[in-house]
Amino acid sequence: MKRRKVLKYLSILPVSSVVQPKILPLAVEKANIYPGDDLFEELGVRTFLNAAGTYTGMTGSLMREETLEAIRNSSTHFCMLSDLQDKVGAQIAKIVHAEYAMVTSGCFSALTLGLAGVMTGKDDQKIRALPHLAGTGIKSEVICQKGHNVEYSRALTNTGCKIIPVETAEDVEKAINERTAMLFFINLMTDNGKIKQEEWLALAKKHQIPTMIDIAADVPPVSNLWKFNDMGFDLVCISGGKAMRGPQSAGILMGKRPFIEAARLNTSPHGDTIGRGMKVNKEEIFGMYLALKTFVKQDHEAEFRKQQQQVDTIKKEVLQVSKGITAEVVVPKYGNVTPTLHLAWDARQVRASGKDIQTRLREGTPSIEIASSETDKLVLTVWMLKAGEEKIVAQRLKEELQKGG
Ligand SMILES: *Cc1c(COP(=O)(O)O)cnc(C)c1O
Repeated sequence: MKRRKVLKYLSILPVSSVVQPKILPLAVEKANIYPGDDLFEELGVRTFLNAAGTYTGMTGSLMREETLEAIRNSSTHFCMLSDLQDKVGAQIAKIVHAEYAMVTSGCFSALTLGLAGVMTGKDDQKIRALPHLAGTGIKSEVICQKGHNVEYSRALTNTGCKIIPVETAEDVEKAINERTAMLFFINLMTDNGKIKQEEWLALAKKHQIPTMIDIAADVPPVSNLWKFNDMGFDLVCISGGKAMRGPQSAGILMGKRPFIEAARLNTSPHGDTIGRGMKVNKEEIFGMYLALKTFVKQDHEAEFRKQQQQVDTIKKEVLQVSKGITAEVVVPKYGNVTPTLHLAWDARQVRASGKDIQTRLREGTPSIEIASSETDKLVLTVWMLKAGEEKIVAQRLKEELQKGG
């Protein structure tokens, strides 16, 4: 056993027990069974500095200490899952100005379960019928704009529904019929459609059709947590493990109570449901709740300023390389609202391609991941870096750009 580990365990024991030989062996034994941060090493899994962003494939974000503490503490008791969802749903609802809420396993399952709730209500037969809708009388169509019909539509079609893509308000009017279950909007895709949030909502209200908005990656700004509930969307779905730094496998479904009560009947612990596999246990539910509370209280302006400083550090360092390099900091309007650095260069001066540099950063020490690369371009963010890591990223980028020619 490594000395460092022994010291770590000694330091968390009460002072009196350190001198009691009876307790010490137990603690040491534990440390051997659970080697903690050496598990990456044990399995040979590469870790890296994340200058990319909150990507699911990169395990999203890192949880805060408070969240980890909530997970650890909650893991020592049993409770009824439905009791916990009742209580946490009511508390989350207050924070986000909704009637009700539930913790889901990511935004993706919030989309599936929210729609399932709309389709089935509390009808047990309908719940068990999903996703086979023929002959059930369950409404089977979801209308969304073409530009919003992206990979995440799968979350909706999992229920058995079809997507009806539209482009104009007139298309929406024509598409609505007795089979229409819901109108769906993705905030991130706002600029990829002619119809904006308010008009979309007005169309749905006119025909009394439930509406759902996906805001998976849309905090910050923190106000987006309640903005769409205030606007009147019936269901709002968000990821917990992106900027909120909750458990990566958690998310929140919020909105109108009847839909969310029905959504809950479509998932665990109810066995014969399409959502049974979208399980969230108490640890994730408590973790999500704590992450949300902490996120709302956070000093968002200070956090944004910190990110701007980190990006500036990288930008300044990289611009020292000259070689026709340009650096632009862009803050996206929808989704991933964080200072994002776009580097571009003169391919005759920096001879390495963006892909080459991305690979060398990945294979270097420490390993670094960036958001994306093209022939003569790189994109990166800083919000998932730990304090000080931006200096390492800046140094490594500078080295590789200098080398390339
Ligand atoms: C990330 C994302 C999702 C999926 O969210 P998870 O929390 O990973 O399930 C859905 N929609 C959009 C627009 C996203 O960006």
